[in-house]
Amino acid sequence: MTSFAEITTIGVGGEIARFVEPTTRVGVIEAVEGADEHGLPLCVIGGGSNMLVSDEPFPGVVVRDARRRITVPDEAAPVEGDDRTVHVNAEAGANWDDFVAFTVELGLEGVEGLSGIPGTVGASVVQNIGAYGQEVATSVASVEVWDRETKTTRDLLPADLKFGYRSSALKSSMYQAPATPADRFFPTPRYVVLSVTFALRHSAEGTVGFGQLAKALGVEVGARMATTAIRDTVLEVRASKGMLEDPTRYALPDMADTKREGNVLADLKRLAASGAPAAEDGSGLPAPDWDRHSCGSFFMNPILPEAEAARLPEDAPRFAATLPDGTSGVKTSAAWLIDHAGFHKGFAVGERSAENAPASLSTHHTLALTNRGTATAADVVALAKTIQRGVRERFGVALVPEPVCVGVDLRP
Ligand SMILES: Cc1cc2nc3c(=O)[nH]c(=O)nc-3n(C[C@H](O)[C@H](O)[C@H](O)COP(=O)(O)OP(=O)(O)OC[C@H]3O[C@@H](n4cnc5c(N)ncnc54)[C@H](O)[C@@H]3O)c2cc1C
Repeated sequence: MTSFAEITTIGVGGEIARFVEPTTRVGVIEAVEGADEHGLPLCVIGGGSNMLVSDEPFPGVVVRDARRRITVPDEAAPVEGDDRTVHVNAEAGANWDDFVAFTVELGLEGVEGLSGIPGTVGASVVQNIGAYGQEVATSVASVEVWDRETKTTRDLLPADLKFGYRSSALKSSMYQAPATPADRFFPTPRYVVLSVTFALRHSAEGTVGFGQLAKALGVEVGARMATTAIRDTVLEVRASKGMLEDPTRYALPDMADTKREGNVLADLKRLAASGAPAAEDGSGLPAPDWDRHSCGSFFMNPILPEAEAARLPEDAPRFAATLPDGTSGVKTSAAWLIDHAGFHKGFAVGERSAENAPASLSTHHTLALTNRGTATAADVVALAKTIQRGVRERFGVALVPEPVCVGVDLRP
């Protein structure tokens, strides 16, 4: 029986009553509609890289879309005038980094800064993935969905998708308040993504949009560089922070074939070249890198009303931002708050550390909660709650988890 521990990057979570992997569009719709009709809990899962699921058995249906085709509908169309837009369509189950690698190889600009983000194309629009100065929102032309409310398929356009910082109309449909599930449509949105059409630009160069990346490339922010160089550097910077998934997970039976073989091999090669030791089991794979067994950034950067932000210490990071009600606010750094509340890299509950605890902060990054090999969801939750409590006591700020927490209460 498949469990969430086997199909999520953090590697925890209970057994699944029914796990289905439809290989056709109608199969996906039927699986979702079948669960909804029978009132069963439904979880549509992609790469499981943004989910923390409880250790209890999941009594419903988990659907993982096995369609992974990426096509270029414009390929045969003539270029008109100066318009260099190229549309690329990807089915929801396509691995996100397979998609990025494909577009960079094809000479398209638009998502190269999002290289190495784990997960699928379908989920990329749920929380509007972003990194290194890029967000998926800026490249999305339309999203084909199954609407669980009206029981019809629809094409959602950017205006319908209401993208914001790590948010979209899809994600909003799951929550009534931060980290508080809505009565319906949780842990899967009202709109199940079937495919995404991206509008990219025909160009082998992209813009370096973020200071840390510019520094690694030795250029100024705003410089134009080969998208291949941007991709390679993003992967290097991510590797140095443990912010890539562990490619050895694709050796698990339940993960086989969910990412293109050539790209998994390239990831394994990069990991081995970084000096990772070989696994002791003689598999020929690198040993697991526990710093990568996470959900990525576990807490969102808080966006605070100006009066609240004014109470933070002077050296706390501050960026202009917009609050959910449309008024202006201040975004601060969750990593800074965690570190300055006394939770440093490698922190674990109970005077333990990354070496001897089941769960700890990453040894590279204070924002990633990691499974050190034997963690249960309960261990990760205990760590998350300790950090939430500490940051609230020290700074009066409520940290909201970024992953979708199923059967786990981490309301701030
Ligand atoms: C090491 C690491 C680094 C990361 N770095 C980043 C980063 O830099 N930036 C960033 O934004 N995120 C980052 N993440 C978070 C994560 O990779 C993204 O949120 C990703 O988009 C999740 O994709 P997934 O397929 O794994 O989604 P899952 O975890 O499988 O699902 C997440 C949510 O999406 C829903 N969902 C999945 N597929 C569909 C679908 N077809 N239709 C509708 N809903 C669906 C699920 O029901 C669930 O609610 C990181 C995670 C890890 C582990």
